[in-house]
Amino acid sequence: MAKLTVRDLSVRGKRVFVRVDYNVPMAEKDGQMVINDSTRIKETLPTLRLLIEGGARIILAAHLGRPDGKKESSMSLRPVAAKLADMIGRPVAFADDCVGDRVEKTAGALKDGDILLLENTRFHAGEEGNDSAFAAQLGKIADLYVNDAFGAAHRAHASTAGVAQVVAARGGLCAAGLLMERELKFLGDELESPARPFVVILGGAKVSDKIQVIDRLLEKADMILVGGAMAYTFRLVQGYKTGKSLVEPDATPVAARALAKAADRGVRFLLPSDNIIATPVNTGKLNKKGKPVFEFQNARLNDSLDIPDDAEGFDIGPSTARRYSEVIRSAKTILWNGPMGMFEDARFAEGTHEVAKAVVEATQNSGAKSIIGGGDSVKALNQAGLGDKVTFMSTGGGASLEFLEGAVLPGVAALSDKK
Ligand code: AMP
Repeated sequence: MAKLTVRDLSVRGKRVFVRVDYNVPMAEKDGQMVINDSTRIKETLPTLRLLIEGGARIILAAHLGRPDGKKESSMSLRPVAAKLADMIGRPVAFADDCVGDRVEKTAGALKDGDILLLENTRFHAGEEGNDSAFAAQLGKIADLYVNDAFGAAHRAHASTAGVAQVVAARGGLCAAGLLMERELKFLGDELESPARPFVVILGGAKVSDKIQVIDRLLEKADMILVGGAMAYTFRLVQGYKTGKSLVEPDATPVAARALAKAADRGVRFLLPSDNIIATPVNTGKLNKKGKPVFEFQNARLNDSLDIPDDAEGFDIGPSTARRYSEVIRSAKTILWNGPMGMFEDARFAEGTHEVAKAVVEATQNSGAKSIIGGGDSVKALNQAGLGDKVTFMSTGGGASLEFLEGAVLPGVAALSDKK
């Protein structure tokens, strides 16, 4: 069922409670918290501008970090209020809590077009617990509810679900923001009946994290290209040697079922035929979490399906990258989730970058729709300077994955249906 969007609301003079994703990376500098990347703030500007033009009285709510229900000054949203004011070119008031008398008074005094940012909702335990009394307190200051925080929509928290129910119970409408609307369109509607060939590229660390997505996409895709460490679990199923590569022996039964399903449905399921490998050497040091630190020595090409006993696979090799790129260039719809290797290390980033280039070429030269399903593939595209050259990059990590699995996200379910 299609959901109401912020464009369907009449907001003049109304207090609109807008859940945004302002969980921005911050670091301490000279005793102050400084925002390192304001992409998430920028992503909310279209919705905010629309609301301002419509004469809404805007109340913004968000979480930052994991303060676990306690006030934690390093996780205050105050720096975000200043940054947002800068970016939107108008004052943004800040409330040092998200519920209570003072907040209610400030929200009540807002004029049309004013913006108020509430303090971190996770300073209250009721947020993550989706406590009904806490949701009712949040809801006191809202006539209408808008959710533009796709990245938090897979959580049933008070500000993503409970407060919407409070507003709806009073007859108020609950709508998707413009960013949320785009996420639902590209990760949902566009993949319902995709232009073909529909090529899915899956990578990342673990098969177990992605198996539900694989299972669902096996019903839609023409081809699935697999990279990253998870490729080695599939090779393990096929009886090849995987050396010291990151494999999940427990996940071999589900991996085997996926291979069988692909064969059954005639989906081409491609695995790397060459790899970049290296020899892991224990440095004897421990990292911050107390885990041994390894150095990866002697990075080299392994032109075989078996990986030597002393080595670990870290990237797809050049011949696999060429084969995958050819398939990608012939696609009309592309969905990409997860890097082809440990791309954070330049020695193992080539495969991911080659795939990124092919995705961009297909998009720019043959009009393919390219949808990047969040998380590390977005990071990898941005690292290659290609972020603005694909059709859509999701802002969600866990939320994109759950949505692609076909799950109903609580933050989406809580919105009003379009009549
Ligand atoms: P995910 O969050 O499941 O998409 O996994 C992303 C992470 O997988 C990145 O941090 C990569 O460094 C890591 N990764 C990808 N390929 C490999 C590999 N072959 N060996 C170890 N880590 C990998």
